[in-house]
Amino acid sequence: MSILEHSWQDALLSSIEVGIVVVDKSFYVHEFNQFMENHSGVLSADIKGKVLFDFFNEIDKNWLENKCQPVFSMNTPVFVIWEQRQYLFEFGTSRPITSSSDHMYQNITILPIPSESGQTERICLLVYDMTDQAMSKERADKLNEQLKVISRIDGLTGLFNRRYWQERFEREFKLTFRNKKPISVLILDIDHFKKVNDTYGHQAGDKVIQSLAMLIRKATRETDISGRYGGEEFVVLLPDTTADTALIVGERIRKAAQRYLVKHDNAEISVTISAGIAQFSSQFTRPLMWLEAADKALYQAKESGRNQVVLAEAHA
Ligand code: GH3
Ligand code: MG
Ligand code: MG
Repeated sequence: MSILEHSWQDALLSSIEVGIVVVDKSFYVHEFNQFMENHSGVLSADIKGKVLFDFFNEIDKNWLENKCQPVFSMNTPVFVIWEQRQYLFEFGTSRPITSSSDHMYQNITILPIPSESGQTERICLLVYDMTDQAMSKERADKLNEQLKVISRIDGLTGLFNRRYWQERFEREFKLTFRNKKPISVLILDIDHFKKVNDTYGHQAGDKVIQSLAMLIRKATRETDISGRYGGEEFVVLLPDTTADTALIVGERIRKAAQRYLVKHDNAEISVTISAGIAQFSSQFTRPLMWLEAADKALYQAKESGRNQVVLAEAHA
């Protein structure tokens, strides 16, 4: 190789933004470029002719030997991406610490360097800095997670919104068909709510809706699935609960609502609620039939004078 050839290769090795390390089968280092020097603080002159593992304790020796084995024996490259293993070399990163780790994320390519005999005596480790990509992905994942939560939640009350509640309701319906455990659904509606809006204004009405959501949350269990079904209509799915037990929960909410005073400007607003309850029965062949049974009971509660909880007729 001419001197000229050497010089452009050296220039390339020093300027490239990729780590390059050449090792032999015993992991003696033969090449260690500028990128590696900059990030490790180890000088090429110091590490050349020495064993890689003596300088980088963080490398899992067995793991790397296993990864490199096919590169030596079969002349095939091996790739390790940061999703599998964050890094091979524990390098810091100059980026602001916004991620869970302040270490460089790396993709590693292990290339065979065939000798004249055709045998691979040396391999080249290429170290790519993937920190920016990893951080973008981390941010996107976090955002997606937040979006998923937001898309399930009703903005006014913090309860599940109708779409997501229905999704859960249908899932529970299918499960219940198989496991046969008792489960009940409760639907409730504020009595004469139009009057609240008319008398105190829409904002006061919103406050009443929020307060009721809070009372529902207090009166139910963590495992119950509560949602805002419509304007001032709420639904609660009560797993492992018979109609009789659900009635106790319904009464608890009804009494709490009756007692609760919503303060708005100088007024104290009190409302009552009506509710209908239906326990699951295998006669309900579709989820909507089950909910309609509860809704019918709610209608009866309204018809019978409001401020009461009514059980749907028992279905065999
Ligand atoms: P009933 O006892 O028969 O339920 O009488 P009601 O007046 O409550 O009748 P209904 O349930 O049909 O009334 C619903 C009213 O709720 C109509 C609508 O103006 C009001 N509403 C619906 N969504 C909201 C909301 O998000 N905020 C406020 N403030 N009012 C709402
Ligand atoms: Mg209503
Ligand atoms: Mg109403």
